[in-house]
Amino acid sequence: MADNKIAPNANGFFDDVCAFFDHAAQFTNHSPGLLDQIKACNSVYHFQFPIRKQNGVEVIHAWRVEHSQHMSPTKGGIRYSEMVNQDEVMALAALMTYKCAIVNVPFGGAKGGIKINPKNYSLTELENITRRYTVELIKKNFIGPAIDVPAPDYGSGEREMSWIADTYNTMNPGQLDALGCVTGKPLALHGIAGRKEATGRGVAIATRECLNVAEDMHAIGLSPGLAGKRVIVQGLGNVGYHSAKYLAEFGASIVGICEYEGAIYNPDGLDVEEVVKHRKETGSILGFQGAKEEFKVSAIGLEQDCDILVPAALENQITLHNVDRIKAKVIAEGANGPTSPEAGEAFTRKGGIIIPDMYCNAGGVTVSYFEWLKNLYHVAFGRMDKRYEETSNRNLISMIEKMTGTDLTPEQRSMVIKGPTELELVNSGLEETMIRSYHEIREIKLRNSKIEDLRTAAFVGSIDKIAISYMNLGIWP
Ligand code: GLU
Repeated sequence: MADNKIAPNANGFFDDVCAFFDHAAQFTNHSPGLLDQIKACNSVYHFQFPIRKQNGVEVIHAWRVEHSQHMSPTKGGIRYSEMVNQDEVMALAALMTYKCAIVNVPFGGAKGGIKINPKNYSLTELENITRRYTVELIKKNFIGPAIDVPAPDYGSGEREMSWIADTYNTMNPGQLDALGCVTGKPLALHGIAGRKEATGRGVAIATRECLNVAEDMHAIGLSPGLAGKRVIVQGLGNVGYHSAKYLAEFGASIVGICEYEGAIYNPDGLDVEEVVKHRKETGSILGFQGAKEEFKVSAIGLEQDCDILVPAALENQITLHNVDRIKAKVIAEGANGPTSPEAGEAFTRKGGIIIPDMYCNAGGVTVSYFEWLKNLYHVAFGRMDKRYEETSNRNLISMIEKMTGTDLTPEQRSMVIKGPTELELVNSGLEETMIRSYHEIREIKLRNSKIEDLRTAAFVGSIDKIAISYMNLGIWP
């Protein structure tokens, strides 16, 4: 019989992910052995290397964890943070496996971590650390376009990815697909249009899709549709900033923003671009003229009045300590693991909906997949067919104009004729992925009345897909 309680687990992040997994596994019918294999982290590599600093040598701790090779390559970002530890990297690698499966991105999950606060290192030192980290991965066969493909994560971005690509490329002369060894590269260095904003854009699409289901919104006492909904975003980094930007573009009102220095709130809405400008100038979101209230303790910002909360910072932000004071009806998890299992259970019990991290923030890895494909094709999306499509459209329009005797205006004409750019194709692929996957997860939940939330449904979907892959590999009878 299905046990509707998620086993409380104060042990650590990886245990939390396993608790979600075990809870969902009850709703599948795979053998315990297969479930154990899916759940385990296949390869955990912890290594140390020295770097020279101005005042001596420092030993850097680093990790790469490949959670599952049921599909190759494995995929996942590299976190640069003082807080990084093995448990966290294992949890994040496992989440990548489930994330890729739920959005049909054909990779296994992985994650990397470098235990440093990037702010304490010069540009040269950061470059040395990143290049040395890459060399260590190459030595152990932990990186490569067909093996394991890193990407940005908390504390890393395009700059670090280009150092990784260059190091790998230099050490693998003649390898045609070498640049597919990492994603999230700058556009000028074989990256792809739209990757930087992809995670946040995906969060906004996921939230819009959830809010559009009238029946589900009525059940939690919200009117359907994103227009006018009040949103609080935690984190103004790449994911938080872009989530806020696109949610506002889709018609929501950003009423609160929380950062580590504090939180600001205005029930009539905040101009996100202005907040970012203010933070750049003053180093803090506090003191922003457009805010009606501000809080020195950041966590209080999460508890203000709103319809939707987007935690887009780090894990373990919504716990049993604050979940009862959260006023949002919907939590859209931009970060990985922001809600503890017990807090998630309590939030669902009080009638809220959590759009789970493994689906909600999958936009980043989805567009990473497009970048990897572009690197293997060695051609930008749209290059071959843009003009061909324009010519076909022009011929079609001319024919219709001739037959109907009505001419389009020059503006209408160019709108209809125009072939797609790379960015338009990427955004279209991202939107299709996010929308299709949302309904796939929702359908799984609807099919089994014992599945009480979207996270469990998403895990069920992922476990089933990974199990099929193992069976196709012939490993399981
Ligand atoms: N670090 C991001 C994540 O957690 C992106 C991973 C990727 O693009 O491979 O999903």
